[in-house]
Amino acid sequence: MRIVLTGPPGAGKGTQAQLLSQTLGLPHISTDDLFRHHISEGTELGMRAKSYIDAGELVPGEVTIDMVHNRLIEEDTRSGFILDGFPRTVQQAIALDEILNEQLNQLRAALDFEIAEEEALIRMLSRGRGDDTPDVVRHRLRLYNCEKQSLRDYYAPIRVTVRAEGEVEEVRARTVHALSEQIPLLQYSEPR
Ligand code: AMP
Repeated sequence: MRIVLTGPPGAGKGTQAQLLSQTLGLPHISTDDLFRHHISEGTELGMRAKSYIDAGELVPGEVTIDMVHNRLIEEDTRSGFILDGFPRTVQQAIALDEILNEQLNQLRAALDFEIAEEEALIRMLSRGRGDDTPDVVRHRLRLYNCEKQSLRDYYAPIRVTVRAEGEVEEVRARTVHALSEQIPLLQYSEPR
């Protein structure tokens, strides 16, 4: 089962993706983790990406797409994945469909996390990450708002909304509920 999580930065996608990954026994793939791994390893990709991340800009198209492509051909993604942080643009969404088409696979659901902008801001500013400064955070939210509607339109046939306000456990229950609306026959196991 192949699932993407979309929504603004600060909506808690990473946390919910991790929980869903345990529930469904599928790998959690996060562009944020992939970039940070490259940066800490000092790879060329990491060095290119760092200045964009620090400024809250999207890392340019091909770099990000190639990085995700390389991850999605790894063996552990054979029965599916939970993808978080990608796609963020329609260009990336099209690239993802192309990667999946090559594998004769397709996405089953796009879980779209919705949260009031003020709440997302508060969450980001309280976690104190290097790219979570007020100016950078506002810029990241602006970029998200520019792409939001076109990404929603693109995923309309498989999109389900999840209200992301509230405690982690509440949002987790909503996420599982939303997913079961999109994939009714799904059998859930308890988190491992
Ligand atoms: P996030 O924590 O998901 O908001 O991502 C942090 C930063 O990583 C973003 O501000 C971008 O610089 C970069 N990034 C993450 N995902 C992507 C993506 N799909 N495309 C381009 N840049 C990305």
